[in-house]
Amino acid sequence: MKLGKFQIDVIVENTAYVDGGMMFGVVPKKLWSKDVQVNEQNLVPMDLNVFVIRTGEMILLVDTGLGEMLSERQQKIYGTAPESRLESGLAELGIKPDEVDYVIHTHLHLDHVGGAVKDDGDGNPVPRFSRAQHILQKLEWEAANDPDERSEAAYDKSKFMPLYDAGLLKIIEGNVELIPGIKLVLTGGHTMGHQGVIVESEGERLFLFADIVPFQSHIRPAYVASADLFPLETIKIKKELLPDIAQHGWYLGFDHEIDIKVCRIIDTGMKLVAEKVEV
Ligand SMILES: [Zn+2]
Repeated sequence: MKLGKFQIDVIVENTAYVDGGMMFGVVPKKLWSKDVQVNEQNLVPMDLNVFVIRTGEMILLVDTGLGEMLSERQQKIYGTAPESRLESGLAELGIKPDEVDYVIHTHLHLDHVGGAVKDDGDGNPVPRFSRAQHILQKLEWEAANDPDERSEAAYDKSKFMPLYDAGLLKIIEGNVELIPGIKLVLTGGHTMGHQGVIVESEGERLFLFADIVPFQSHIRPAYVASADLFPLETIKIKKELLPDIAQHGWYLGFDHEIDIKVCRIIDTGMKLVAEKVEV
């Protein structure tokens, strides 16, 4: 899709299968199962959507999916084989990995950073995007390097230390305008250092708030993943952000939704609902 002068595309990097209870928190299955299909093991499919932003001068990615270098345990946790469509998806858009200028990591959970590295041929992870600066929040960097017991399984240092070692990490603090039209916003909520991206061109805006609103169901304030470390913060952000997006007719992207990658939010008077926009 076009957003002002910018070109926005989405690559479905892989599809993972995760526990429904993990994704919808305190909401009972009787309610959330109206929105998503579960398989026989009670697992919910979750796309790993990588947003590609081309400004005309710069190429940016928001998150990188799981990548190809998953251990057997990680394949079990995410319920998927390491069949990354990241490079083939970029190739379809005519983009080579070394042409990417920035990779924005909303946070460092494996399903958002795994694709940032590739196998060097000897089984060692090396940066895939050799020229790109990889942007993340300082609070996220600190949490990922010293994770609490609850988060430990979601962070894998072998997926982000190669970026650090190669000098490709740019660690920021708080809200920052990365380049004209690309703003990064520290959200907290899902993790303490989780950030969202606001893309703006010619008055149009696209909000990529990743795991704050991973599926369209999460537009409802009480739908908060049990994986979120600070669920009340997630609710607060959504209550501030989503009515504002609806009122202005801005766009919202989903990092894990299957059917809808980008939507407008419609206020029916009773509730907010997602209206699909073709990307
Ligand atoms: Zn996450």
